[in-house]
Amino acid sequence: MILVMKHGATTEHIESISNWLTNQYGIHVNPVVGTGTTILALVGDTASIDQDALLRDPQIERITKVQEPFKLSNRRMHPHNSTVEIAPGVVVGGEKLVVMAGPCSVESREQIIDIARHVQAEGATVLRGGAWKPRSSPYSFQGLKAEGLELLHEAHKETGLPVVTEITNPKNIELFMDKCDCFQVGARNMQNFDLLKELGQTRKPVLLKRGLANTMEEFLMSAEYIMAGGNENVILCERGIRTYETYTRNTLDISAVPVLKRMSHLPVIVDPSHAGGIYWMVEPLAKAAIAAGADGLIIEVHNDPAHALSDGAQSLTYDSFHDTMQSLRRVAAAVDRTI
Ligand code: PEP
Ligand code: MN
Repeated sequence: MILVMKHGATTEHIESISNWLTNQYGIHVNPVVGTGTTILALVGDTASIDQDALLRDPQIERITKVQEPFKLSNRRMHPHNSTVEIAPGVVVGGEKLVVMAGPCSVESREQIIDIARHVQAEGATVLRGGAWKPRSSPYSFQGLKAEGLELLHEAHKETGLPVVTEITNPKNIELFMDKCDCFQVGARNMQNFDLLKELGQTRKPVLLKRGLANTMEEFLMSAEYIMAGGNENVILCERGIRTYETYTRNTLDISAVPVLKRMSHLPVIVDPSHAGGIYWMVEPLAKAAIAAGADGLIIEVHNDPAHALSDGAQSLTYDSFHDTMQSLRRVAAAVDRTI
């Protein structure tokens, strides 16, 4: 439910309505202050609220019901784009597009530091790298785990790049807290609700990837799990979905970008690497993502893709990452954004 306050409604009055709603109905009230108007986004069981009584309040303009089950992530509750700050000056959802880049998996100290230096030189502002790798086969490389996390932290200390890395189990949250700047929830864990709830108890940004076969509403309900715990720092990531097409690893649902932007105020980024599954598709898909309004990209880059321990086929070499960044800058300029 949304209460739209009249022009000039006083702060004291808004506070007293909010306190009353919380004490009387146990409702969480999120004030969104705009230019001139303030709206109060009410989250919780709003069914028993006496709307007629509220409408008698001379400072309330109108009341709107939000039908969708996702509330905190809903654009109707928060009309302006929200931004998520991963590190000082690295903000997802602003005018500047954020490029996160790095290997699929952290493989060694030399590898991750070398890649971090190269992607930083090309303009990436966040280092990606998996330490815990959820693989389809139990016989595939499962990641360096705690050692990988430590190596990411070393790469951060060497370069200053903030780090995003995948967490698969809530029991590891403590371990991740000082070692990374943003949690990644992978496609396979998008509906790991225990994990989402625990991440909601932190205030660290969460990059939430869309599941392999999930709808927009399911995706936003997963974001809601994190936000309902008080952590509003959620970045949505479209990474391709399972369709009948087998030529590509997944099918990039480019329409997810404008659709999510319309449904939600959360920043949206795209992962062209896992969508296409092959290196030569990364650049065109990334360009399409920026043209469609994405706030950033997460791209796999490897020092030696032919020998990568995971996802070598879709990883860019340093040279192709350089060329890709050049052409992404041109597309960004065409939509009045920068990288
Ligand atoms: C990854 O980022 O390496 C990864 C496994 O991604 P996804 O969860 O999208 O498959
Ligand atoms: Mn990968």
